Amino acid sequence: MTVRAWFGASVIGALIAGSAFTKPPAVQERPTLVVVIVVDQLRADLLERYTEAFAGGFRRLLDEGYQYTSASHAHGVTHTAAGHATLSTGVFPSRSGIVANDWSQRRGDSWAPMYAVQDMDSPIVGIEALPGRSPRNLLRPGLADWILEADPEARVVSLSGKDRAAITLAGQSRGEVYWMVPELGQFVTSTYYRTDYPEWVERVNREIMPGILADSAWKQTVGERFRHLARPDSAPYEGDGIHTTFPHLASAEVEHADSTAMDPMEYNTWALAQPRLDRAVAELAGRAIDELRLGQRGSVDYLAVSFSATDYVGHAYGPLSQEQLDNLVSLDRELGQLFDRLDQRVGRGRWILGLSADHGVMTMPEWTAQNGGTASRVVLPTLQQGLVQALREAAAEGTEPLYRMAERLASLLEERGLVAKAYTTHDLTMGEPADSFGTFFRNSYYPGRAAGWLTRYGVEMRFGFEQLVHVSTGTTHGSPYWYDRHVPLILLGTAVPPGRSDEAAYTVDFAPTLAALAGIPVPDDLDGRSLRR
Ligand SMILES: [Zn+2]
Repeated sequence: MTVRAWFGASVIGALIAGSAFTKPPAVQERPTLVVVIVVDQLRADLLERYTEAFAGGFRRLLDEGYQYTSASHAHGVTHTAAGHATLSTGVFPSRSGIVANDWSQRRGDSWAPMYAVQDMDSPIVGIEALPGRSPRNLLRPGLADWILEADPEARVVSLSGKDRAAITLAGQSRGEVYWMVPELGQFVTSTYYRTDYPEWVERVNREIMPGILADSAWKQTVGERFRHLARPDSAPYEGDGIHTTFPHLASAEVEHADSTAMDPMEYNTWALAQPRLDRAVAELAGRAIDELRLGQRGSVDYLAVSFSATDYVGHAYGPLSQEQLDNLVSLDRELGQLFDRLDQRVGRGRWILGLSADHGVMTMPEWTAQNGGTASRVVLPTLQQGLVQALREAAAEGTEPLYRMAERLASLLEERGLVAKAYTTHDLTMGEPADSFGTFFRNSYYPGRAAGWLTRYGVEMRFGFEQLVHVSTGTTHGSPYWYDRHVPLILLGTAVPPGRSDEAAYTVDFAPTLAALAGIPVPDDLDGRSLRR
């Protein structure tokens, strides 16, 4: 049965039932819009930690949504593009091919750097100087593609502060896909999608962005009574190590190109690593709903929005900072307004929504250590020297066959305490993984796309629990540990009663679950399955 036939039959069925003398049953209307929200770096526990400060969209999701509180990514290399591709396709990076943000790609006997959404054949529309972008490296269709397969009249919109988020959430489809180029303060697309900008996108760039960029200060907006939810504002391991407190001022934090003028690109990048980036993305999403009449035309449409500010703020200041609290309260407001607009335009109960995150993040190790934990920071150059040395020694005994060298290298890394565990890719792919982390690494492994520093030499590395391999300030993600894998998975819609479950749920289940709620058929070879049975 086609999508329309199914819809028609259910309505007619309901009308017939309504013509009887008994009270008509509620019309189980099918949603006309599937909304995917990804909050970049939103570790699942942050929604609990800051819950009392939320009064907008997060509040509604926590009160009216259905939460899978144990949801996680089941792949080991927890980076943005990989997380988004998993949420969108329902398969692991080992099958979508999006193993990380950047990797080394094998070409014959050599390896070349590759960016997840790089495609020199798809230049940025109107800005030829920028490198091209498309989902060429994404090897699987996603929820957007399934929706178009079910109804070619459907509209697909995917928006984000980041190219690798907007593009992967649109699958392989050629919908309306726009992302921010922070240096320019403009939303762009590539020729993979279209050859010009629609008026509504140009208007946001021309009329809205200057206002969003104008404020040269980021001031704290969270009321005093909620500030105890985050740790104290001043911490030497935040930001550049000097400017760690509110208000954040461009005059102090943006480098000057010369003695007088602030470099405009540096300024834009500074300003768009703050909550206002998500305000811009939310504004664009609102316009898309109106201009494209999403969910208002009889088709089941698709709107994906990935909010990136949480990631930028988290990397610089950490998940428990005053800055992150401020950012999430701001995003809570934006989401609330977005949901209100969906209610007004599409109609309450006519849209369904899933919210998740592409990965979590490690709490600042210094803060954990101050509070009795054993977390530590491993500064990158020292570690890299050790890795290079071990690689030289392993290679000195001959490089054939490759898996023998990989075994030598793995042993050296473990003997010298450079890693908690080294896995050979041979064992990950041909044998039984040594432990459950090995399974996660296997799910992140795609032949010829080397995500880890030593992947191309046949070795995957797991560093210690709460051992942050990074620079001297800030924090990051990318490990197979729970803090990097544990993400929210919340559904909202009339077909989903409010509630929560701690049953196992994985991010590969996200797309098939939303598809099931919207009555969209999915490929039968997914790694995930619908959580609603
Ligand atoms: Zn991310």
